[in-house]
Amino acid sequence: MLRLTEKEVLGLCRRILDLGFEVIAPIDINGSLRLAIVEDGAKPVLGYVRINNSPRYFLLPSRESLFRYRSSATITSYGVKMRFQTSEGPCPITITPEYNLPKKRLAFFGIHPCMLNSIAYLDKVMLSEPADPYYSARREGMLTVVLECEEGDEYCLCQSVGSYRIPEGYADIILRKAGEGYLARSCSDRGEVILKELGKPDDGAEAGEMAPRMKTKYALEALSEASIDSKDPNPSLESCTLCAACTVTCPTCYCGDIEDKFSLMEPTNVERVRVRMSCQRRCYSTIAGGVTFLKTRDARFRWRLKHKFPFSKKAYGMVGCIGCGNCIAQCPSRIDFRTYIGRVEA
Ligand code: SF4
Ligand code: SF4
Repeated sequence: MLRLTEKEVLGLCRRILDLGFEVIAPIDINGSLRLAIVEDGAKPVLGYVRINNSPRYFLLPSRESLFRYRSSATITSYGVKMRFQTSEGPCPITITPEYNLPKKRLAFFGIHPCMLNSIAYLDKVMLSEPADPYYSARREGMLTVVLECEEGDEYCLCQSVGSYRIPEGYADIILRKAGEGYLARSCSDRGEVILKELGKPDDGAEAGEMAPRMKTKYALEALSEASIDSKDPNPSLESCTLCAACTVTCPTCYCGDIEDKFSLMEPTNVERVRVRMSCQRRCYSTIAGGVTFLKTRDARFRWRLKHKFPFSKKAYGMVGCIGCGNCIAQCPSRIDFRTYIGRVEA
């Protein structure tokens, strides 16, 4: 393990930039702490508890162009008319893939263990066969430097969902605050090479079990689907404004919708885009004929929890909540999902 000063940790970030990565780190942007691309001398923030976004914003953007195609659409007095292949003859459609990929390999610098767990969860969803080619291309060759938390805030629940642990094979370098400086440990061959290049002597200390020293304020009771399924209405949901901030800021929400975009001036040139969708919106569960499955706030809120906990556990072998608490901290009404699934003092 190496002992580094704060200046040397920031030097480590610069070194990764020099290696040709697009480095994404917590940056203070007008008073809001967000993961952002490190450029123009922006200085990563190391001592923080919470960021307002997550790696998902870079691995699975909120709007992404999938491809363009040429259609045989024409404008009629009734609107846009598209003709697809019929018995009357073929309708040639030319598809041009349009990957909107980062120019360089991504490196996440200074993210907390819970955010690394969010990448592990997204991998399970997006890389399960058939793998999503857009996600997989962004994910390729990614480097991570994890900074352990010192303390959580009143919204964190990583201890309850186990996301304080660093998932196996996901970190290249782990940093831990120690006194005025930091301990740095490599967890991969790439991490080892990068740390060696800093030219600092190894202090010979054993990494040991790098279990987090932080304590979150709350722990959850054993989760039961029955508690989510309770028919008792939750009065706190009356203040839900349906703004969808809880899903927008969640590092593991991945639902999207597909839209075809074209201009009326050129209706044959169509762009197919994937846009973020929230289960808190009514249109999420509305199907042809105007039928809506999740009609009430209560139904939509419970759906979110079912997806995060029992459904994800069954489908992917891990819960879809990494306990970051963003959905509570960013909710304008401070609606706390822990009241649904059993909140107890730790
Ligand atoms: S952030 Fe809060 S108010 Fe907004 S949709 Fe979610 S629960 Fe409702
Ligand atoms: S559900 Fe809430 S606490 Fe869990 S990962 Fe999403 S934002 Fe974080």
